[in-house]
Amino acid sequence: MSEPAREEMYSRSAGLIENGVLANKRVLVIGLGSFGGTIAVELAKAAVGEYSIMDFDKLETHNIVRHACSLRDVGRYKTDAVEDLILGKNPFAKVDKFRMDVKADPIASEREIAKADIVIVATDNNDSRFFINKYLIKHGKVGIYGRANTRAEGGDVFVQRPGGPCYGCLVGTASFDQAAEEVSSEEAGRRSGHIAAYTAPEDAAAVVQVGLSSDIAPITNLMVKLALVELSRGTDSGISALEDELVYDYWMWANRRERRFKNWSPMPKAGNMPTILRWYGARIKKFDGCAACGGSVALDTGDALPKFTNDDTSDVNVDLNI
Ligand SMILES: [Zn+2]
Repeated sequence: MSEPAREEMYSRSAGLIENGVLANKRVLVIGLGSFGGTIAVELAKAAVGEYSIMDFDKLETHNIVRHACSLRDVGRYKTDAVEDLILGKNPFAKVDKFRMDVKADPIASEREIAKADIVIVATDNNDSRFFINKYLIKHGKVGIYGRANTRAEGGDVFVQRPGGPCYGCLVGTASFDQAAEEVSSEEAGRRSGHIAAYTAPEDAAAVVQVGLSSDIAPITNLMVKLALVELSRGTDSGISALEDELVYDYWMWANRRERRFKNWSPMPKAGNMPTILRWYGARIKKFDGCAACGGSVALDTGDALPKFTNDDTSDVNVDLNI
C-alpha cells in the first residue's frame, strides 16, 4: 500500500486539533500495558508525531483481552507490538523504543524525560512513579499518571505540572488511597508489595484481580484528553476549550458501587452525593515538606518509599465520602 497523504489522513479532525503542531510534539510513554498501549495508539490517531516508548515486558495471552494489541502479538515485546500499532495509525510518526524498566538505565530515562513534551506515567508501581517524578521536577515537564484501583472498581489520574504539586505531594494527601491499586499480575504484585515475598504462588494468584477493558477505557480516555490539551496549549484549536475544564490536578472515577464505593448512592437517588461513572476533580496542595519537590531533602529513589504527612487538599469539587 502506498503511503497516504497526511492531509487526507487527518482531514476529518481539522479545527479540533492542530495536527501540524502535534506532528512535532514528543510523547514519552512509560509502561505499555492496557494503559500505556492504548494511550500511545490514541495519540497516534490524533496526529501526535514523535514517541519514546518504554517497557521491558513481552505480551502474554492473559494480557490480550485488555490490551490494544491482539493474540497475534503474544510473545512479542510490548515495545515492538505497540510501535506497529502507532505506525498503523500514523505512518509519519517517529518511534524510539526502549526495551527496559525505567529504573534500569537512569541516564537514558532522564534523557528521554528531558526530550519529551509530555510524559505518560503508566507503570504499575509507586517505586517507578517516584523515580519518574524526580526527573519530571528536575526538567520541568508535565507528567500524567494513571492507574486502576482494585479490580478496576475505579481509577485515578494525576497531572503534574512544572512548579505545581508533585507525585510525592499527592501520595501525602488524605484523600489519596495509595494501597487501592489494581494488581494485574503476580510479578507486578510482588514488585508493588501487594503480594509479600513469602507468599506462595497459589496464594498470590488470588490477589491478582483485574477489571474489564471497558473499566480501563474511561481512565485512559481522560489521560489522552489531558495530554492533547497540554500539547495543544497556545494553538487556536477546538480542543483548547477544555483548558477551562481540565484544570484539576487529581481526578477520580468509580466504575462500580463496590468496596471503596459501596456506600455511594445509585445515580437516580444521589442528589448532590457522588455517584459512579462520572469524573470528580480536586486540586492538590503543594506540600512544603515534600521530600521530592520541597527541596529540603534529597530523594534517593533507590530506597524505600518516602513517607509524607500532608492532609491538605483544597477546592475539592465534591465530598468524596470515602
Ligand atoms: Zn512534592
